[in-house]
Amino acid sequence: MLAAGSQIKTPQIAVIGGGISGLAAAHQIVEMHPESRVALFEAGDRCGGVIGTENIDGFQIELGPDSLLKALPWGVGLCHRLGIQDELIGTDTTHQKTWILRSGKLQPLPEGLAIMAPRRIWPTVRSPILSIPAKLRMACEWFVRKKTEYDDESLAAFARRRFGRETFERLIQPLVSGIYMADPEKLSMQAALPRFIEMEAKHGSLIRAARDTVRQQKKRERSGTATINSGMFVAPQKGVGRIVTAILDRLPDDSVRLNSPVRELTRSTAGDWKLIAADGQPEYFDGVIVATPSDKAARLLTNINKPLAVDLNSIDHSGCVVVTLAYHRNDIRHPLNGHGFVVPAVEGRDIIACTFSSVKYANRAPNGQVLLRVYLGGATRPHVLIYEDDEVLSVIARELNPLLGIQGSPTLTRIVRWPNVMPQYHVGHLELMDRIDDAVTKLPGIELAGKSYRGVGIPHCIHSGEKAAERLLEFIAARESSTGQTQTVPTSTGNSS
Ligand SMILES: Cc1cc2nc3c(=O)[nH]c(=O)nc-3n(C[C@H](O)[C@H](O)[C@H](O)COP(=O)(O)OP(=O)(O)OC[C@H]3O[C@@H](n4cnc5c(N)ncnc54)[C@H](O)[C@@H]3O)c2cc1C
Repeated sequence: MLAAGSQIKTPQIAVIGGGISGLAAAHQIVEMHPESRVALFEAGDRCGGVIGTENIDGFQIELGPDSLLKALPWGVGLCHRLGIQDELIGTDTTHQKTWILRSGKLQPLPEGLAIMAPRRIWPTVRSPILSIPAKLRMACEWFVRKKTEYDDESLAAFARRRFGRETFERLIQPLVSGIYMADPEKLSMQAALPRFIEMEAKHGSLIRAARDTVRQQKKRERSGTATINSGMFVAPQKGVGRIVTAILDRLPDDSVRLNSPVRELTRSTAGDWKLIAADGQPEYFDGVIVATPSDKAARLLTNINKPLAVDLNSIDHSGCVVVTLAYHRNDIRHPLNGHGFVVPAVEGRDIIACTFSSVKYANRAPNGQVLLRVYLGGATRPHVLIYEDDEVLSVIARELNPLLGIQGSPTLTRIVRWPNVMPQYHVGHLELMDRIDDAVTKLPGIELAGKSYRGVGIPHCIHSGEKAAERLLEFIAARESSTGQTQTVPTSTGNSS
């Protein structure tokens, strides 16, 4: 946090990357220090990165993310600061079901299962998703000894150790893959799912931890302090893209440079940073926030610190194809009384998940029509990225239609390919991050922000952009006060911890 009354001249700051991380960084700078001159360089012809909302024929289509997790404060918090908090809507809580594919049939996810923490036993016992031996093995989790010395391990290793192979393959893998599009044999528990490690450490068992959560909830209900279940996610009524436009409205008109991929970043002899974008003209900045994916950051920093660039480049990213389809309601037999389904890798399909978008959020489709969003690909099915449109649609016809009883053709189809967009936090990611952070600290006036580092969700990305902005303003203030060029800077907005 910037100290009260810190001294700073008008800072010239470049933000590279106009995804939500870069936008949040630019917004934080303008909010904390309105006189600063911010230039946000975006390679593409629009801001938002993987965030994008389109309105076509009365349908509201999300090209990438569709929700903000409420439990993390930074997404909803930013919406409040942008004045769009009243536009946030929750997911439909009357139809919260999720299904999992089992041997070609959709089976309801057992109620009360929070990825790896079953809060209710009977729904899992009764569920046809697991065999009887798998259920018995799952019950033994209560007695599996906790690890005493915790080095990082993969999701697959953790889940198999605690619950057994089948529960991992049939329940845990599909639920987590839907979020991280990751290979579970490589996904780091410490970086991606630390709360389950904490549960194991504190309670010795995830089932015990889940039972404790239920006990606490009942206690709160008895004392009248329990919160009503209003769902875990929210989104702006006009779609997640609304957050992008709300930020752009707050940035000075001339601050955003579209179609401006930054090609070169070097330290100038005067101690500031020389940046060259698409127009080839050098520009100079007191500080730079690199809010691109890590492989692009590696390219920019390779001449500045080679080992740092190598580390940045070692963070893999997986891709996916998002297909949005509209149908007449009468053309689908399935009751669509839930948010969607996920597909375990062992089912051998290209589809990894499907969201019933117009059920999950209200007003996403005109009356009598429904909107579905299908995800294909992820780290374990990279081949789908090279499918032509007709191949994608034949996968949909082959894999989706029989599951939902779809008879007619879609009235609208939107296919978006997202190659290399989802960072893969492999085992050891946090150690790698410590090394990266350490190297960046030694580059005065450079900060990194974005999904590749310490959280992929929108709230995490916002937080990383805001913290990068605060650190940079702090650094510039300290440097200016030591050279005597001063101007007072307000304190941090106090939105981030
Ligand atoms: C399909 C999908 C669904 C998702 N669903 C959700 C969800 O529901 N909820 C959630 O919380 N999260 C979700 N996520 C994750 C989340 O949306 C992303 O992690 C987050 O939006 C990434 O933001 P970012 O700014 O870090 O990166 P990006 O969005 O990738 O933005 C980086 C930007 O940098 C630009 N850039 C790159 N190189 C340069 C350069 N040299 N010069 C200038 N600009 C450059 C790029 O053009 C891009 O605009 C989803 C992700 C995907 C792909």
